[in-house]
Amino acid sequence: MRCIRAALGSLACALAASLPATLPSTARAAADAARPAADAGAFDYRLQPRELADGVYVLVGRREDFSRDNGGNIVNTGFIVGSTGVIVVDTGPSRRYGEQLRAAIARVTPLPVVLTLNTHHPPDHFLGNQAFPPDTLAALPETIAGIEAEGAAFNDNMYRLVGDWMRDTEVVVPGQRLTPGRRTVGGRDIELVALGGHTAADLVLIDHASGTVFASDLVFHGRAPTTPHADIPRWLASLDTLGALVAKHWIPGHGSVGEEARALADTRAYLVWLRETVRDAAESGLDMAEALARPLPAEVRVWALADSEYRRSVVHLFPAAEKAALKRRN
Ligand SMILES: [Zn+2]
Repeated sequence: MRCIRAALGSLACALAASLPATLPSTARAAADAARPAADAGAFDYRLQPRELADGVYVLVGRREDFSRDNGGNIVNTGFIVGSTGVIVVDTGPSRRYGEQLRAAIARVTPLPVVLTLNTHHPPDHFLGNQAFPPDTLAALPETIAGIEAEGAAFNDNMYRLVGDWMRDTEVVVPGQRLTPGRRTVGGRDIELVALGGHTAADLVLIDHASGTVFASDLVFHGRAPTTPHADIPRWLASLDTLGALVAKHWIPGHGSVGEEARALADTRAYLVWLRETVRDAAESGLDMAEALARPLPAEVRVWALADSEYRRSVVHLFPAAEKAALKRRN
């Protein structure tokens, strides 16, 4: 097995081989789909932390759009329990989610939360911040700027989309500006990798002891990627960086969780296809409606939200592609 390349240090490849086998991805996806939905009447997200590796927990969200049924729980969050404290990776879409995540952590360990990360700035990743100690909240500088600039509008929009699940949710901007690198936090050997392309800043967390990568929204699995803030060439470069890792567990920002790197390959293939499809449509002189009518590849059609995310992507990517095509023709 090839270990991690020098740029990112030595992820614990040795451990990878010793970890227990888990369900194949299709069975995992079925298990994810069968999990109990949120209880909208009681505003209970029914969060169930799954221990993916020793001390590493993930809470898998629904592969859906925001709705009043799911309360915005469409995101994967997680936490890592060290010897002296807990690291939280993303706080979910609402104050209620953050509080229920905090309660779920307390059911697992009495240790305090010592670091709460927002991997990037869209709403489902930080609107639970209120539930966590303010001095633990941390993000990359561009993410902090994004929350400051767009957080209030995201919060208003979430109220419209999911209703009373959002009650009393307010934007809390992280105070700690993260720098990338390897460090020990809560007794856990972690590495923060600053990447981008899905948004201006996408934070990846490596837990060296377990060989786990929290890949943020740079990786989607079984659920079509979202691109409203995307810089696709930069995103592809970030996937190259991630592709240099040999990790045992990959936790995508959305979609099913698995130990194989298949999610990276799928995300890359989709982005390349999307970019080329939009560019080809513009170069061929098609209009946006014709670009929207382009068929999706069979392997993409089976993903959750494939049609709707393709439409969203074309709507915001096509004008620039059309402009570039016109410029080349003139
Ligand atoms: Zn997301």
